[in-house]
Amino acid sequence: MSSVEAAGPQFGAPIPGVQYPLKVLYCGNCSLPLEYCEFYPDYEKCKQWLEKNMPNEFERVLQLQGESKEDDAGEDEKKRQKRGGKGVLKTKKKEEVPKKICLSRAPRGKKKSVTVVTGMSTFDVDLKVASKFFAQKFSCGSSVTGDDEIVIQGDVKDELFDIIPEKWPEIDEDFIDDLGDLKR
Ligand SMILES: [Zn+2]
Repeated sequence: MSSVEAAGPQFGAPIPGVQYPLKVLYCGNCSLPLEYCEFYPDYEKCKQWLEKNMPNEFERVLQLQGESKEDDAGEDEKKRQKRGGKGVLKTKKKEEVPKKICLSRAPRGKKKSVTVVTGMSTFDVDLKVASKFFAQKFSCGSSVTGDDEIVIQGDVKDELFDIIPEKWPEIDEDFIDDLGDLKR
């Protein structure tokens, strides 16, 4: 639909609730009836005049233009995409468990300690794979000891803050909590 077609019936056909005879509005810039302004070479100045002197008509003209302009459609599309993007983020709430990993140190024997890692599965990390990785990385024993718990033989808590985000980039260091030393 072109703006010409849109403007034609708007000004020509009787509109319910409008008193007749219709007063034709003339543009102060080009002196033509308003609907012909867009054919005037200096249409920009017409619009400026219209905006100043007949703000209501100006808005109507803008609206008619918006309907037929491809640029505006493109902007609408962008807005819709933005809205859609936000919506996707909002609906992303599949789990109730907050994503968080907790590291703690627990005594083992008299001098040794172990490192307890919980919460890896809140990031969909396979515990067995993680345990194996830790064992390799630290050259020590590591085992899955619970639903979402890995115990690494040795005090490697501080290293884990670097190693976990390195191995699983989706796990930011901020998601890892230091619970300190566990007491027996
Ligand atoms: Zn004009």
